[in-house]
Formats: sequence, structure tokens, C-alpha cells
Amino acid sequence: MTKLEAVRGDITQQLVDAIVNAANTTLLGGGGVDGAIHRAAGSELLEECRTLGGCPTGEAKITKGYRLAAKYVIHTVGPVWSGGRRREAELLRGCYVNALRLATQHAVRSIAFPSISTGAYRYPMEQAARTAVETVRGELAKPTTVELVRFVCFSAEDLQVYQEILG
Ligand code: ADP
Repeated sequence: MTKLEAVRGDITQQLVDAIVNAANTTLLGGGGVDGAIHRAAGSELLEECRTLGGCPTGEAKITKGYRLAAKYVIHTVGPVWSGGRRREAELLRGCYVNALRLATQHAVRSIAFPSISTGAYRYPMEQAARTAVETVRGELAKPTTVELVRFVCFSAEDLQVYQEILG
């Protein structure tokens, strides 16, 4: 049985096999959690990202973790919220599905997710968290190497939302 948990903290500090980055389509760095991950991993992460040719929204790509404790960074691109009628929910589900598929392909046993799309991309927090938890639960019902999924919340408010959804 895979364990799902939510914690408050900094995703760059997590002692897990893989952390997920809420990147943008260029994969060349940005603000928010993306900036924090690049700062913590060091410049070699950006060098590897330059070789990847970007990433479409809803998809995911994997790199090494460099100076992070995590062996891998799985970069995914969440949708920009624009009212909910531009397939935002489907694209956000894709982020979690594709990140978990890459994790299993690399024999990842523990993975930490940030709250994808709810910062600069303005996805409503409750809806995003519900989609995150439902999608992860659905994927973990399939064959997987993942034993621990940790949702890392930057604020106490976000943690409360996740804890209520996880029950
Ligand atoms: P997006 O562009 O996908 O909305 P952001 O990085 O702007 O991505 O925000 C996504 C979430 O990540 C927000 O809830 C933000 O507060 C959070 N966040 C920012 N820095 C960190 C960090 N170091 N660890 C975990 N979460 C973070």
C-alpha cells in the first residue's frame, strides 16, 4: 500500500528519491518553486534542462537531482488557470499521471510534489488539491514502484486544504 501524506515545508529539502518541479514549458528556470529547485540543485540542473527541448503543458521530463538530496527531479508543466474551460483540469491531471509514470520507469520509491499551478499560474487551490489527490490515488491503483507520495505545501493554509482532502 502506498502512503499519501501532506507536510508543510520546502520541497528542495525533502529526503525522497524524486521531487517534482512545477516548471514552465521552456524548462529553463523561473520563479516560485522552479527557482528554488534550480538554486538548490546548482547550475548543472539548468545545463541538463537545456538539452531537453522544453516540455508541453501536462507532460513531464526527468533529470538528475545534482546537489539535491533527491536523486531525480521530475519537471512538469501545469496549466495556467483561465477560468476552467481550457482543459485545465485534464492538463493538471496529466502532470500527476506523467510524473508518476516516469517515477515508476526509474524505480522511484518516494516522491514529493509541490502544489502544481496554484502559484503564478493561479489555479484555485481547493480544486487543484482535489485533482492532485484523486489523480495520484488513481495512478497508485495501477502497478507502481512508488511507496510514498508526499504533498509539500509552502503555506499552512495549503496544508490545511490537503489534510482535509486526504482525510
Ligand atoms: P505555478 O507556476 O505552477 O503556479 P509556483 O512555483 O508559482 O508554480 O507555485 C506553485 C506552488 O509552489 C505555490 O503554492 C508556491 O507557494 C509553492 N512553492 C514555492 N516555493 C516552494 C518551495 N521551495 N517548496 C515547496 N513549495 C513551494
